[in-house]
Amino acid sequence: MINRIAAGEVVERPASVVKELVENAIDAGAMRIEIATAGGGMSLIRVTDDGIGLDPDDLPLAVERHCTSKLDRGLDAIGTLGFRGEALASIGSVARLTLSSRRRGADEGWSIAVDGGRVGAPRPVAMSEGTRVEVTDLFFATPARLKFMKSERAEAAAVADIVRRLALAHPGIRFSLAGSDRALTDFEAANDLWDRIAQIVGADFRANAIEVDAIRENVRLTGLAGLPTFNRGNALQQYFFVNERPVRDKQLLGALRAAYADLMYRDRYPVAVLFIDLAPHLVDVNVHPTKAEIRFRDAGLVRGLVVGGLKEALASAGHRATATGGTAMSSAFARRPPLPVISHTGPRQDFYAAPLVPPQGFAEPEQAAFADMPMSADIRPTAEPLPEGDAAAHPLGAARAQVHANYIIAQTADGIVVVDQHAAHERLVYERLKAGLASRDVPRQMLLVPEVVDLPEDDVARLDERAEELTEFGLVLEAFGPGAVAVREVPAMLKGLDVGALVRDLAGELAEMDATTLLRSQLDRVAGTMACHGSVRSGRRLRPEEMDALLREMERVPHSGQCIHGRPTYIELKLADIERLFGRR
Ligand code: ADP
Ligand code: MG
Repeated sequence: MINRIAAGEVVERPASVVKELVENAIDAGAMRIEIATAGGGMSLIRVTDDGIGLDPDDLPLAVERHCTSKLDRGLDAIGTLGFRGEALASIGSVARLTLSSRRRGADEGWSIAVDGGRVGAPRPVAMSEGTRVEVTDLFFATPARLKFMKSERAEAAAVADIVRRLALAHPGIRFSLAGSDRALTDFEAANDLWDRIAQIVGADFRANAIEVDAIRENVRLTGLAGLPTFNRGNALQQYFFVNERPVRDKQLLGALRAAYADLMYRDRYPVAVLFIDLAPHLVDVNVHPTKAEIRFRDAGLVRGLVVGGLKEALASAGHRATATGGTAMSSAFARRPPLPVISHTGPRQDFYAAPLVPPQGFAEPEQAAFADMPMSADIRPTAEPLPEGDAAAHPLGAARAQVHANYIIAQTADGIVVVDQHAAHERLVYERLKAGLASRDVPRQMLLVPEVVDLPEDDVARLDERAEELTEFGLVLEAFGPGAVAVREVPAMLKGLDVGALVRDLAGELAEMDATTLLRSQLDRVAGTMACHGSVRSGRRLRPEEMDALLREMERVPHSGQCIHGRPTYIELKLADIERLFGRR
């Protein structure tokens, strides 16, 4: 009965059994671990390893509660994944368990069975060196728990998730996951962590992630953090490890979220594989029987490390956006149906008959045969290349044209870049606002005539209450009677601003915000709203100098690869990809 009560905590679902058994195999020094399940793990879980194995004498002890071989250095210096000596006893009390093992160097293997808590006698068994644990009929002895299981498919997915997490933490070990629940997955022993990450989270993640390596007071953070544009709709692709132990810790997930806070929409999730390493005595893993939660002795330090380390890494990525944007674009091109065959009669013939236009034709567009083609393109009159040597310093290239009054086409050393001018400018204004706020200096511009904006009374009250704080953001306003505010000054960096629309949006934001928190600490929302209003609208024609200035500023300003909603601000198409599209490669 005591074992079953304990099992309620340790063995929550099939995935927790898999976790315990695989951790035992890792602790036993296995290089190869095979996991098989059936019926979502409810009917069968089998974990086979090639680790050190157990002596026959130890088999009855291993399935006994509180028996462990791993506490020789005490609770303050836990170097193994297990230490509670509870797993096998707990599993054996709620299922049928067979533990078979052949010690390294021994001539024969031995096996012991536990059936709903009743331990049988050890028997010899033919097997190779290592250990095999087979668990069938999980929770048959505790029907109440059985009722709480989700669908077989959900349980099988949870098993796969925990195996992926454990495999990420141990790249040198080969893991295979088989059984009737799924097609065989095999993670070959990887050369290094990066290869293992590519195996498990995907090669595209690796290509769209930034390496993180930060240290604070002997606590180290390493791993890969996805570019903000490489985001997901859920948190399943967020992996944290503390001293190689996979954890799902709310504080760590919160720190990850905070690091990306102003880089993506609230309902999007960054992808990350992050490892925290610190001296064992600085972390308590004995908080919860499943050890998925942990306590750091200095939680603030760890949070600071995660938020700070990630922010630094992301800032160093500068204007980089999702690199595979170009690939997606070229496959979109490639997937286009073939152009219809044009009949050689009718007006199109003139087009074909027109003389080829020499390059200088760009200088006199009215003479070009396609000058009146229905395309809203502003071709840059003088297409001078970037000066030699500048290509490396200016990865976004030289602006060549603006099309559809929102997209800037630029030529780079080895391809072309298409910039969404509105998204890019929004990010730049946002970063300027933030920088201005940090130095308490957001330049303001006085309006010649104060602009009076009519608003519902409670909106007026909310804005008026926050007037002093809004001044910090460069917005000076006051109540103007009960149903209006008068705006006297606006942030100088917001050009061509529709003051009324901004104030109305801000009032809406304020209504949703926590009234007791300073605007300064809800900066991402306020500055985001302002930036959105103050940026170059799509639809505005830009002069060549303006386009180049925008590109240069994007190269300088951190995070400019994505707008504040996490969408990319530019995409790149390499010449090689263009050539491939034309079948030249
Ligand atoms: P813990 O891992 O906390 O020690 P368990 O109940 O998981 O407790 O395992 C009990 C003991 O059985 C372990 O301490 C270890 O000595 C032995 N053991 C379990 N699984 C294996 C394995 N795969 N290979 C070798 N020994 C094992
Ligand atoms: Mg264990």
